[in-house]
Amino acid sequence: MPIYEYYCKNCDGIFEERRPVSEASEPMPCPVCYKDAPRIMPTSFAAFTFRDGYPRRIPDDGKYYHFGQKVSKPLTRGRPNEHPEVNKPKPKPKLSKGELAEIREMRELAKRGELTDLYGNYVKPSEVRKMYEAGRILKKGTPKYGLPPEGPSS
Ligand SMILES: [Zn+2]
Repeated sequence: MPIYEYYCKNCDGIFEERRPVSEASEPMPCPVCYKDAPRIMPTSFAAFTFRDGYPRRIPDDGKYYHFGQKVSKPLTRGRPNEHPEVNKPKPKPKLSKGELAEIREMRELAKRGELTDLYGNYVKPSEVRKMYEAGRILKKGTPKYGLPPEGPSS
């Protein structure tokens, strides 16, 4: 049976399959994400390359693709939807300048013993950032410290 090339849009990569000529133009499920991938013609194939039998794309930057995300190594064991590089927790969003300024301000209050949490417990300067990120800061003498509802404001 001849080998045909298929392009998975989801993974942004190609794979090859051995199939009978009569089925060659039917879409093939991608070996990584199992979505149907259409066959690509030799003209489009010229824009791609393979390595180690995994979908790759030119320009070759030494990376592989998993669920459309770049990873440095192909998944060799474990379940196909659990690549360690793709499923690792996302880094915390950066705080904006305004939020950092608020934290600095609250740290100063905490140093002077003027900052309390919702329950009236005094907050240490070293705890300010953690509590700010959890949305738990109260400034002494005000009913509520005006926090943005979620995440950095821009
Ligand atoms: Zn795929």
